Amino acid sequence: EEPLLAVRDLEVVFHTEREEIHAVDGVSFDIHEGETVGLVGESGSGKSVTARSILGLVDSPGSIEGGKIGFRGDDLTDDNWERHRGDIAIVFQDPSNSLNPVYTVGNQIKEALRIHQGIRGNEATERAVGLLEDVGIPDPRRRVEEYPHQLSGGMQQRAVIAMALACDPDLLVCDEPTTALDVTIQAQILDLLADLQREEDLAILFITHDMGVIEDATDRVNVIYAGEIVERAPTGMLFSEPAHPYTEALLRSIPGRTNAADRLPTIEGEVPTPTGQAEDCRFAPRCPYAFAECHETPPEHVDVGAERSAACLLHEDGSEEAAERTVFDG
Ligand code: SF4
Ligand code: MG
Repeated sequence: EEPLLAVRDLEVVFHTEREEIHAVDGVSFDIHEGETVGLVGESGSGKSVTARSILGLVDSPGSIEGGKIGFRGDDLTDDNWERHRGDIAIVFQDPSNSLNPVYTVGNQIKEALRIHQGIRGNEATERAVGLLEDVGIPDPRRRVEEYPHQLSGGMQQRAVIAMALACDPDLLVCDEPTTALDVTIQAQILDLLADLQREEDLAILFITHDMGVIEDATDRVNVIYAGEIVERAPTGMLFSEPAHPYTEALLRSIPGRTNAADRLPTIEGEVPTPTGQAEDCRFAPRCPYAFAECHETPPEHVDVGAERSAACLLHEDGSEEAAERTVFDG
């Protein structure tokens, strides 16, 4: 079956006066209809730029300089975003940036309905009320008349999701949709997205730094580091048997997953800024398993099981022994 979205060798470069930053450096992944796929990495890994690329939202000084974004048989990078506007919607981290403070919630949803579906007037009002109800906003008939500031953060994010649904999208890109919310509200928004995914047969791309969110919300995961996907796996497999040392480190950073004694609250060091062609493994400076070759050879993806691959030299020969060395033991 053809994937709904097929990102292939995506390159996004930011040109500054001093250097070229290859924020996304050869990223490939698929999303099938109705599937929830995660893209996880620390801040500065290139995950938000990847999200914005899919929507055609990369602004100067950044530009897409290579690869393809296949969507329903079209390459979006051939300027097909307009044609698929509404097929793909995005929910950002901070709902207050997505809502206009001077218009009522209802008017903003109605505007989306008008633009994307040509629905106006009373019908639009009724649909807006229905959408607020679908996203679990109580008393939607009253809420539809309210301004964003009259809603709590969690309710605002629900309203943003309602606006996204007003386009009747096939793919919803969620960029850290729960990061700005407190833990209880986070869980409620994740539940809501899971319900919508089932009921509307939506495909969802979940972008987050939070492995807990990945575990709760996704079917498959892509781990991104310094502009490159370093591991891809079904979610359960990734958690039970991480194949890449970076994935292992991300798992160790989840509170409560390991003994307090050997738990690292964060991964030491920082994500490097990729400024040119990789000549080494970009994780080598932080990798506890690094050996000489890691500083000389950029690793390629190697299959490490069904629907699984990792870009790490430990797996290069595909040997059991090499795989053993990176199995997370927590
Ligand atoms: Fe670590 Fe080497 Fe694998 Fe990179 S290639 S993740 S440095 S072991
Ligand atoms: Mg981000």
